[in-house]
Amino acid sequence: MKIITLQLGQMGNCTYIVHKNGQGLIIDPSWQMNDIYKTLEENKITPKAVLFTHGHYDHLTGAQDLLEKYQIKGYIGKEDITLSELPEELLISIKDNCSLEIAGMQVDFIHTPGHTKGSYCIKIDNALFSGDTLFTGSIGRTDLPGGNAREMQKSLVLLSKLPLETEVYCGHSYGPSFKTTIKEEIENNSFMRIATREPDTFSEIL
Ligand SMILES: [Zn+2]
Repeated sequence: MKIITLQLGQMGNCTYIVHKNGQGLIIDPSWQMNDIYKTLEENKITPKAVLFTHGHYDHLTGAQDLLEKYQIKGYIGKEDITLSELPEELLISIKDNCSLEIAGMQVDFIHTPGHTKGSYCIKIDNALFSGDTLFTGSIGRTDLPGGNAREMQKSLVLLSKLPLETEVYCGHSYGPSFKTTIKEEIENNSFMRIATREPDTFSEIL
């Protein structure tokens, strides 16, 4: 399995192409679709599905064109379908934690509400695509519609139980890097530290 990172748009969004044996999964395709199409062609990757970490505009603007061009479906948390404003016939709804085999890869969807109700962190092999739930040294906002501090705290606890060496690929290139590890965040991310060690005071630091 290989991962290609594209940083597109003006908000530091990261689109990831995960591929194996010429088949690809595209995570959060947004903004410049032509750059994504070009990358797929240059690397001879056939896209098999799109995976959305959540339904916010900046993670999916332009994705309808991609879904229609390749006639593939987009997997998205059930609770974020309306938020996404994408046509339902192009989507496959994800509910609760589940593992699916897509394009010859095992994809674990981990429900991590807090930033939005339908936020999912997506784990493929040793890589976790954390969307706007976990960033290097930070976390996603909980004050937007559908956000919830208590749910975010629980989601961070869930992520802290993943193998320490899990590589985390964030939804934006905020902070020092878009890439980190669970170990790094447990040690250095104060939101993660307080969520796991002092859960009752978590909402006070937001
Ligand atoms: Zn977001």
